[in-house]
Amino acid sequence: MEEFEEFDDFRDHQSTIGEDGSRLWVYPKQPKGVLYSFRKLTSFILLAILFVIPFIKINGDPLLLFNVLERKFIIFGVMFYPQDFHLFVLSMIAFIVFVVLFTVIFGRIFCGWICPQTIFMEFLYRPIEYWIEGNNNQQRKLDESPLSFNKIWRKGLKHFIFFLISFITAHFFLAYITGIDHVFELIADGPKTHLAGFAALIIFSVIHYFVFAKLREQVCIIICPYGRMQGVLLDRNSIVITYDYKRGEPRGKYNPLEERKSNGKGDCVECGSCQAVCPTGIDIRNGTQLECINCTACIDACNSVMRRVKKPEGLIRYASERTIADKTKLKFNIRILFYSVVLTGLLSLIAFLFSIRTDIESTILRQKGTMFQEYDSLHYSNIYMIQVINKTRKTLQVDLKLDEPEGKIQLIGGPFVVKEGEVGEAQFLVLIKKSELKSSNTKVEFEVMSGGEEMDEIKSTFVGPEALDRK
Ligand code: SF4
Ligand code: SF4
Repeated sequence: MEEFEEFDDFRDHQSTIGEDGSRLWVYPKQPKGVLYSFRKLTSFILLAILFVIPFIKINGDPLLLFNVLERKFIIFGVMFYPQDFHLFVLSMIAFIVFVVLFTVIFGRIFCGWICPQTIFMEFLYRPIEYWIEGNNNQQRKLDESPLSFNKIWRKGLKHFIFFLISFITAHFFLAYITGIDHVFELIADGPKTHLAGFAALIIFSVIHYFVFAKLREQVCIIICPYGRMQGVLLDRNSIVITYDYKRGEPRGKYNPLEERKSNGKGDCVECGSCQAVCPTGIDIRNGTQLECINCTACIDACNSVMRRVKKPEGLIRYASERTIADKTKLKFNIRILFYSVVLTGLLSLIAFLFSIRTDIESTILRQKGTMFQEYDSLHYSNIYMIQVINKTRKTLQVDLKLDEPEGKIQLIGGPFVVKEGEVGEAQFLVLIKKSELKSSNTKVEFEVMSGGEEMDEIKSTFVGPEALDRK
């Protein structure tokens, strides 16, 4: 890319750090355009979903609950316990592979369109800032101006609203952990009776406020692990927001009377609009950079300039570095097809893992170190141990039925009851008629029942005298 050589100094420093190492505050211009409108709509829908979900209940349980303190998790109304940890681990592995493959193909689409950091910053906190402090230039002037009544009331009001939003959001985040009913209890009873809950609310509110009032783009550039991994996830074929340097260079100021092509100039009129709207303060014309969150603001800004100078839109667009270099169009190629198939497979695997999850998990083993007993003149008996994990939201009375061969079951110690979310164990005897046994090792099949319903089927063996094998 010989065209970029003269602009290479951007690689020597981070966009928001000055030469003396101090933070350079970014004052992005508010974007306008088709993509910004779509992103705004997407953000409002996602925010509405985020704030409505805690109120949705299925059979009295929240739709989603991530109670790490009590190790209770509810996903779409289904309760998950620590016993389902293997599902969680497998899903996380599948999810990480999904994220890696998705990023290799589609770049940081997630960051620009779905990431809560971008949504809260660009569509909640930033618009409030524009409303109270004015546009980006007015904000810069206000920050540089000496302390005055105007500055105090604007800054004071902004930070008060920022903290209020953070405090309200903290309640909703707590609702995802302990449930909305607990949050209402906390509000009704006051902080004195729920000191721990109230402390958690304040801590989360302060962190949330600090992230959006102060840290901002630094989260994406320095803190976010996904952002830090971009360097290894992206390649020349990844779809990212990119500047068409083949078309734009050599850049030069716009002159309506000039025929740019015959003067050797490209389509970039060096207006700086793409950089002015960038929330991470970079110049996308320097190529793909770690700081770019693929927010599309520069696409909208450049398209509006192109319309004004009567040039085709798309000087900055979604494209891969290879398509720009080869001057080809983005095509649905074998690589994208292959990765998409793998992605679909992974999603199906996650769905399958959840679909095979049963309400109870049971294990039946013959009691260690025991042999058969001669129960009476007609029967032999074996002693077994059953373990049941109850993943339902109710106490279960577990019954056992012997499917094969014909025989009887006697539970030791009375009815076998397992409480909600607990693991229960019981011993039982199996009696089989001597005349039914044909060998010393007979296959047996149990049905684990509760409330007349079959919950599980388990196979085991029944031991008899070795003399049976010699018959
Ligand atoms: S370069 Fe463009 S897409 Fe990337 S963060 Fe800046 S404005 Fe958003
Ligand atoms: S907005 Fe477009 S024309 Fe203006 S500087 Fe950026 S790339 Fe060049």
